[in-house]
Amino acid sequence: MGNSPKLCPCGSGLSYENCCQPFHEGTLASNALELMRSRYSAYALNLPNYIIQTTHPASPHYQIDRKKWLQQIAEFSLKSRFLGLEVLSFHETPAIAVVVFVVKLVQNKQDVTFTEKSYFEKFKGRWLYRSGHLEEGHAPNLMTVSQPRLLPLAYYGDPILRRKADPIVEISSDIRTLVSEMIETMDACDGVGLAAPQVHHSIRLFVVRKISDSSDDRGDLGVVEVFMNPVLLETKEKTWKAQEGCLSIPGIHGDVERPEEIVVEYLNLEGQKIKKHLSGWNAKVFLHEYDHINGVLFIDLLSGEEKKALEPILQKMHYRIHDGTEL
Ligand SMILES: [Zn+2]
Ligand SMILES: [Zn+2]
Repeated sequence: MGNSPKLCPCGSGLSYENCCQPFHEGTLASNALELMRSRYSAYALNLPNYIIQTTHPASPHYQIDRKKWLQQIAEFSLKSRFLGLEVLSFHETPAIAVVVFVVKLVQNKQDVTFTEKSYFEKFKGRWLYRSGHLEEGHAPNLMTVSQPRLLPLAYYGDPILRRKADPIVEISSDIRTLVSEMIETMDACDGVGLAAPQVHHSIRLFVVRKISDSSDDRGDLGVVEVFMNPVLLETKEKTWKAQEGCLSIPGIHGDVERPEEIVVEYLNLEGQKIKKHLSGWNAKVFLHEYDHINGVLFIDLLSGEEKKALEPILQKMHYRIHDGTEL
């Protein structure tokens, strides 16, 4: 009796040899769907190195401690039984792709099947996993993905993040398109604000998710607001300190002291001039984005001690993103 070829764990029905094995041995995935399948079978076959090699260096899941990361992946692989994969939808743009899929999984004899909506981003010619949202069980609500219009982000070390951005002269249809793409990108990356330089446009524009004025609860997210050519008219003397992060500096957080109340003026998407009083988180988010269009990053505003502690981490991130893939 001859040996029947081992079936690929990704559930394609093909032999491993003719399916995911070449990717695990170095062949580049030609699209995000192939990458997603080969990552699934790498989990099933306990190949943690492949998971790490195919994670975007700017992914929020990227871990500095390589040994610990390898261990975590291996632990997940060993305690799980991988029962198959069901792709619900797949959309790809030249820079970003979205795949929604169901992972059938058993751990400790319990069904822990989940649905994931994953974002993949092209990095130096290779598709890499960037981030994902999980939901328990078979969650068809994650399936409703329209054709995404997502923009590649500029990461720490990109000179555009240090430039003073130019004013918007006319609210053209290009600007309107950019605004809607920025909103989709902000939401896809779970951000509360996104400035145009962060998506490679050096113009004075940012979008934020408005937080209700009555509470300072960050979870209370509301409508999106568009700020064009914003001006800071007044800053109250009283300050407060709270943690900030930035989509362009993934994985880094720090306490930033900012004025508690400000008065601002800006143009909305309809071109109307609006004057507004902002406080608490709304003031904080505005100021974080306002800094972006002036080439300032939140890490510049940290205390000397915090800055010093972050320096080696930032250096590694800079290297990972701009010079090589590993350090
Ligand atoms: Zn496969
Ligand atoms: Zn930011």
